[in-house]
Amino acid sequence: MESDSRLSRRSLLKSVVVVTGAACAGLITRREALAQGKASKEAMKYQDHPNGDKKCSECMQFVAPNSCKVVEGTISPNGYCIAFVKKP
Ligand code: SF4
Repeated sequence: MESDSRLSRRSLLKSVVVVTGAACAGLITRREALAQGKASKEAMKYQDHPNGDKKCSECMQFVAPNSCKVVEGTISPNGYCIAFVKKP
């Protein structure tokens, strides 16, 4: 149970780092970053197909069946964006 808690905290911290980093890089507006902690598909350069072997279903931010902790709206398990973080 404690490892689940650590994993959850780690996932949350990575999400914050990704969104904050993207905001600092000027990829998303401050308003987008603050709104529910999610960014638009456009800002995160989301695409509905994989980038090589990188795809949403292999990303730590993926929430089955078709959602993301970072990108707003419905996404494809086979999609990809610049916030991709491979699952351990
Ligand atoms: S690749 Fe991007 S859109 Fe897909 S799950 Fe990861 S953060 Fe979300």
